[in-house]
Amino acid sequence: MEIKLEDLEILFTEEQIQQKVKELAEKMNNYYKNEEVIAICVLKGAVMFAIDLVKNLKMPLKMEFIRLSSYGTGTVSTGKVHAVDISLPDLNDKNVLIIEDIVDTGHTAKFLMDFINNNFKTKSTKFCSLLDKKISRVTDIEPDYYGFDIDDKFVVGYGLDYEGYYRNLRYIGYKAIV
Ligand code: 5GP
Repeated sequence: MEIKLEDLEILFTEEQIQQKVKELAEKMNNYYKNEEVIAICVLKGAVMFAIDLVKNLKMPLKMEFIRLSSYGTGTVSTGKVHAVDISLPDLNDKNVLIIEDIVDTGHTAKFLMDFINNNFKTKSTKFCSLLDKKISRVTDIEPDYYGFDIDDKFVVGYGLDYEGYYRNLRYIGYKAIV
């Protein structure tokens, strides 16, 4: 499948995304109160979401960035998670909040939750994803926080790419089948 900009249908507008980000941040502000959080942004896809989300969080917060990849090329998940750069500080006794773009099969989320829980005794480990593609799930992982449910579409924009492109779009779109 090739995806051209002119083929894209909008799934979520910039306004819908920003509204959802604020709602998620509100839930987190209520949950964590003034407790310190280590927010871990999973590069590259979650970058826009993580940046917008943390700007709405009010607790003392540190940001970390890790880089994973699971999709090789194209639009089909390989199911294999590849750690490109996962150097993290000491997370023992910390409230850890993992920020992802989308949970699809769940392999990435499971890999990360296992990695953190096997290497650290955190105070809490929560997983937040902007999008949840439940229909594709093959693991038993569920995000603690998510923005939108989506069906079996390959989406791009707002950090999500197709072969490296479209991360800069302010909306989330998909290729309509014509
Ligand atoms: P999972 O490990 O849950 O199968 O996949 C998670 C990763 O696959 C996401 O972080 C994202 O990078 C990629 N991915 C899954 N679905 C989509 C999609 O619809 N569009 C894009 N651009 N990436 C996706």
